[in-house]
Amino acid sequence: MLVYRFYKKKLKKSVVDWLKYTEDTFGDILWKWYWEYNALHQTYDIQNLRPICPKCNTSMKLHLDRLQEFASCPRCDNEILEFKKPDQINSLIKDNVPRDLSNINLLDKN
Ligand SMILES: [Zn+2]
Repeated sequence: MLVYRFYKKKLKKSVVDWLKYTEDTFGDILWKWYWEYNALHQTYDIQNLRPICPKCNTSMKLHLDRLQEFASCPRCDNEILEFKKPDQINSLIKDNVPRDLSNINLLDKN
């Protein structure tokens, strides 16, 4: 019975499901991105990863200088100094989705 239920759950998942995974909250900040298919490597790459302003919901601009790292909102001038780095976010997102299309059952770990 358990096996049957697992199998059924697995069937519901599809590539489309995780291509809809384009936003998540990491360390109290909402991040958004989109997936772009890379035909050369046959993978989906994360594009336009950016934090969303908690005050006005606008995509924030990342400033990643060595001396000062912050995100600024072009609409309300809100600035965030404390946030996970895009590299970390990238890794977390990729950890949340399957590594390739033949492994879609990995989604079940969420
Ligand atoms: Zn704002």
